[in-house]
Amino acid sequence: MQDSFNRTISYLRLSVTDRCDFRCGYCLPREHRDFATPASWLSPAEIQRLAERFVGLGVRHIRLTGGEPLVRKELLEISQRLSAIDGLEDLSLSSNASRLGLMAADLRAAGVSRLNLSLDSLDAARFRQITGNGDLHQVLAGIDAAREQGFAPIKINMVAMRGINDDEVEAMVAYCRDRGLALRFIETMPIGSGGVAASQHYIPLSEIEQRLRQSYRLSPAALRGSGPARYYQVDDSALVLGFITPQSQHFCDSCNRVRLSVDGQLHLCLGQEHRVDLRALLRAGASDAELEAAIVQGIRNKPERHHFGQADSQIIRPMSALGG
Ligand code: SAM
Ligand code: SF4
Repeated sequence: MQDSFNRTISYLRLSVTDRCDFRCGYCLPREHRDFATPASWLSPAEIQRLAERFVGLGVRHIRLTGGEPLVRKELLEISQRLSAIDGLEDLSLSSNASRLGLMAADLRAAGVSRLNLSLDSLDAARFRQITGNGDLHQVLAGIDAAREQGFAPIKINMVAMRGINDDEVEAMVAYCRDRGLALRFIETMPIGSGGVAASQHYIPLSEIEQRLRQSYRLSPAALRGSGPARYYQVDDSALVLGFITPQSQHFCDSCNRVRLSVDGQLHLCLGQEHRVDLRALLRAGASDAELEAAIVQGIRNKPERHHFGQADSQIIRPMSALGG
């Protein structure tokens, strides 16, 4: 599937819920109330039917995301249905790890192969503050459970925020190096009211990269995945660091993805409002061919790029609606 800027779309990020057990300030502020109603949630069978259309059209990687995907009760059923689709090469999941201690083994058995796990601080009090109510020890136990199940690679995502957690960069490097985890730094994105507020703490990752280069030798590396991170190997260790820079250096030219929200909206760009209502088509009895035509047409209308940082570009929906 190609869009009108000759980009091949092979990656679908699929949000299975817009709810979450955390309230990270940059993503899902406490006052947020505008959640999708259960009647609008795609069922596991509807998700499978749409995913089959995407795979038929050339998608090779699906990432389950949220909100927090582990709070969706049917997550294992959804994972099993997706991992059985012929032609899908990779089923991965993003999570805050709070429930992974309970679910890591079942997720692996259901066909999820790779994990991206969020971890912004190794200090329990600070972690609770950033996440609203998160329990650091439970999250670290969840990460350990994932390691024991042999997910590979496991990537840890840290949203870098000046004055909040930027003093922990070296501690995070040591934590990940000691556990065989990849570490990725992410710049804050001004999406939703929380993202806009968090922009006050924005740090261009070039600053963190320069700081790390004073202590470590970073050489270009590759890591399995479908994303836009720039990766480096640290010294001669197995540790790989990634830098994701949506603000300072956008990577829209090589964008390969589209997003499906829990209520069946196909979003063509994280930073724009272009979308197609696949749920309405599905529930109106559209045939497979009609669904595929709507997807292809939507992808032709995929915008060239986001405009984060420009005054008229404000995206109102929180990041939790689309899963990053
Ligand atoms: N709940 C899961 C988690 O936290 O990994 C999956 C969904 S979460 C929306 C996906 C990713 O988006 C996380 O790594 C999170 O840190 C990141 N994120 C959320 N809001 C963000 C923002 N305003 N700027 C940058 N990254 C953000
Ligand atoms: Fe929940 Fe993930 Fe958003 Fe934090 S970043 S509030 S864990 S969806």
